[in-house]
Amino acid sequence: MATIKPIEGRSVHQIQSGQVIVDLNSVVKELVENALDAGATAIEVRFKNHGLDSIEVQDNGSGIAPEDFDTIGLKHYTSKLSTYDDLDSLTTFGFRGEALSSLCALSKFHIITARASDGAKGTKLDFETSGKLKGTSVVAAKQGTTVVVDSLFYNLPVRRKELEKTVKREYIKVLGLLHAYACISVGVKFSVSNQVPKGKKTVAFSTNANASTKENIANVYGAKTLLALVPLDLKFEMDPCNRPGATQTARNWSTQEDSGARTIKVVGYISRPVVGEGRQTPDRQMFFVNTRPCLLPQVSKAFNEVYKLYNITQSPFIFADIKLDTNAYDVNVSPDKRSIMLHDQTALLESLKNALVELFEMHEQSVPRSQL
Ligand code: ADP
Ligand code: MG
Repeated sequence: MATIKPIEGRSVHQIQSGQVIVDLNSVVKELVENALDAGATAIEVRFKNHGLDSIEVQDNGSGIAPEDFDTIGLKHYTSKLSTYDDLDSLTTFGFRGEALSSLCALSKFHIITARASDGAKGTKLDFETSGKLKGTSVVAAKQGTTVVVDSLFYNLPVRRKELEKTVKREYIKVLGLLHAYACISVGVKFSVSNQVPKGKKTVAFSTNANASTKENIANVYGAKTLLALVPLDLKFEMDPCNRPGATQTARNWSTQEDSGARTIKVVGYISRPVVGEGRQTPDRQMFFVNTRPCLLPQVSKAFNEVYKLYNITQSPFIFADIKLDTNAYDVNVSPDKRSIMLHDQTALLESLKNALVELFEMHEQSVPRSQL
């Protein structure tokens, strides 16, 4: 008798879902990204018991069309990508169609959605754990979508127990992530609250819809933070074709329409490299690629190395958004999409370090020597 057999479909779904939704952070990240992809200008995130009982993300975006109700919970159904080549020009956060189907498998999950043409009426969608639509009912709702995730990991006892133990720490981590989305999403109002059992609802933070990145940072981290920051507005050219030792990947960047030279911008804010000032800034470093929050350990290392040349005693507050062509990086690296592969990263880091030295030299000269 054969010993190699296929895993039953439901189990495969559960196993894979557990890789997309690994913790509270991934739930919130996926839902907020969906709200942003739907064009929301207001996003409310409501936690109950720090997310252990419930996580709700409400947006005022496009809403979901009735034609999509049947498939929205199914794995690999997405409105954002249809062929692999589309990944090269991706402008949305999502593209795999895995988040909602994973949440169906790992939580008690429902959606309420309404479109502009629906008046004050919306639809509540209930799902099977497989992601199949179980039923719909008419409810009162404003335009947009509310996704409700109750009892996360209720059917994975080990993870549920771990979450019960760590939820307060997890919640703090989630707030850090939400700060990043709130600061970078200019034009979007964020409000985040938590309700403890039998306690009252507390607002964790909120931003305004018509605020700039700078105002968002002041709102989230305190106005004092801004005093210690300088704007990052770096711009450098990379010419992967002519650079000695250019990698094949870099050469592949050039297309017929373009000469191969790439302009890369890095915008945001960083602590002034002045000893003592770092104390006023929170210990936060956030990196984005085209407004997508992501983990960029090498970029972070480059920033910190250069900063250390000027201020050895503190580490800087960094809020840096790298502006790149959509075909100059790959987001499809890890199930949670937080890791990003930058093409020709070595050359990019070299140019970035040079640009940072120039910036810090300029600021060092503008600071009285007594403060250095
Ligand atoms: P992906 O974001 O990769 O497409 P998801 O599982 O997160 O996959 O979502 C599946 C689809 O559901 C999306 O492509 C989108 O069409 C729809 N959707 C999800 N969340 C929302 C939302 N908040 N508003 C409108 N549509 C949504
Ligand atoms: Mg998504």
